[in-house]
Amino acid sequence: MEIITGTEIKKALQEKTYQNPFEETEKCVKCGKLALPILIVDDEDGELANNPPPRNNGIPIFPHDSCIFVLYLCSECGEVTTSWNQG
Ligand SMILES: [Zn+2]
Repeated sequence: MEIITGTEIKKALQEKTYQNPFEETEKCVKCGKLALPILIVDDEDGELANNPPPRNNGIPIFPHDSCIFVLYLCSECGEVTTSWNQG
């Protein structure tokens, strides 16, 4: 598992993905304002997929392969918004 922060983030948004490139900004899930990327988790070895989060209310979404997670921090309220995809 690789953690990417700081000056490496911008390049990783384009390159560390299994599907489309990640956005350079996202809309905060809480307040809708601008959220900026602060951390990327590259779970290329499937470590998280081997320890999936517990299911809640039957929601059938869980990582099941190598995954990339991008955490965006809201510039207004501080909420964290996550975007992810998997191989
Ligand atoms: Zn916000």
